[in-house]
Amino acid sequence: MDFSISDKMVTILEMVTEFMDREVIPLERGFLKSSFRSLLPELEEKRRMVRGMELWAPPHPREYGGMGLDLVEFALMSEALGRSPLGHYVFGCQAPDAGNIEILHLYGTETQKQKYLGPLVRGEIRSCFSMTEVEMPGSNPVMLETTAVRDGDSYVINGQKWYTTAADGSEFAIVMAVTNPDAPPHMRASMIIVPTDTPGFNLVRNISIMGHEGDDWHSHAEILYQSCRVPVENLLGREGYGFVLAQERLGPGRIHHCMRWIGECQRALELMCRRANSRFIAPGKNLASRQIVQTWVAECSAEIQAARLMVLHAAWKMKNLGTKEAREEISFIKFFVAKVLQRVVDLALQVHGGLGMSDDTILAFFHRFERAARIYDGVDEVHKVSVAKRILRRYGAMRPS
Ligand SMILES: Cc1cc2nc3c(=O)[nH]c(=O)nc-3n(C[C@H](O)[C@H](O)[C@H](O)COP(=O)(O)OP(=O)(O)OC[C@H]3O[C@@H](n4cnc5c(N)ncnc54)[C@H](O)[C@@H]3O)c2cc1C
Repeated sequence: MDFSISDKMVTILEMVTEFMDREVIPLERGFLKSSFRSLLPELEEKRRMVRGMELWAPPHPREYGGMGLDLVEFALMSEALGRSPLGHYVFGCQAPDAGNIEILHLYGTETQKQKYLGPLVRGEIRSCFSMTEVEMPGSNPVMLETTAVRDGDSYVINGQKWYTTAADGSEFAIVMAVTNPDAPPHMRASMIIVPTDTPGFNLVRNISIMGHEGDDWHSHAEILYQSCRVPVENLLGREGYGFVLAQERLGPGRIHHCMRWIGECQRALELMCRRANSRFIAPGKNLASRQIVQTWVAECSAEIQAARLMVLHAAWKMKNLGTKEAREEISFIKFFVAKVLQRVVDLALQVHGGLGMSDDTILAFFHRFERAARIYDGVDEVHKVSVAKRILRRYGAMRPS
């Protein structure tokens, strides 16, 4: 395993970090106080600057206007961008578009690529991914109620989805729906592209999350598909292969998320240390002089380092041996890094006292919104159960000692 960083990546990471500090982090104050939509003109200006530096769409294909970084390279960049919730958006590699781009690139027809992939990579449109349902358990995704019934040259979609991130303002959704109800469970569903202006695509509401309804890219919608009719050409990949495509989408997505979380951890640790040094709790005694704070700083630093190496190793394995071979590592990082993130943000917030609870720093935002890290892209428990089963199987033939 070689984790050395190429000269090209060292230069890129320096440029990204400098840009994040100078141009992106100062926007957070507005982001925390007003709607996302009201920030769009400023964000667009920053995006223009990023394109000018040739750092646009880092993980996406060169032929469509991205940088074409490989998984390990983008993992490093994702860490640098993760220091702010606006980083990935400003650099054109935000979820859920990043995952949709991957699927369209791998499985899209030429027409789908022209119509959706190109504009998506260029940042001209946005998209969303609509799989989780209100009445069905997302932790067992084969249990889907949404159907797409073939009628002549169309699919007619009916169902109720929620947590469709960033649907508000999206040009299209990739919808997971049952097309082959009689097939084995993992071969029943397909992914279908649904333009959001299709009659029957009804955005019911942006769900209020931890007291925040959100808007535009920064939102999660409930959507009712009511006799929503799209041409059969909108099928992505083969009919019944929805879960196969979903696996392709989730593997790299988990690396991206985890490295973004590492970036958040590092920002939280940075804030924790600055506050510990500058906050005096008795004459001549700052918080940094207290052993409990020193312990937190040491423990958080070690946990971040461990988490970071685990993610880079998973990315390296995925890049070199493929997603299937890296299955176990991907599950490890998903629940391990989410736990580290929660602990580091919690302790950084604690060191800030009342200031930590306010929106005068980014910590309360991280605390509120990243609680979801243990839920989306596979709940903790499902990842743990699946790796535990695989590990236990290895010892199945042994007699108890
Ligand atoms: C911020 C956010 C963004 C999201 N974005 C999207 C999106 O863009 N598109 C999309 O389709 N979905 C999205 N989701 C939905 C997400 O994928 C689901 O919430 C997730 O899959 C869990 O499904 P559920 O909410 O139905 O929980 P359930 O399946 O009802 O599970 C509830 C709880 O049960 C427990 N549990 C479940 N299975 C087991 C088990 N086998 N053993 C032990 N305990 C278990 C876990 O603690 C779990 O948290 C998002 C969710 C959040 C919070």
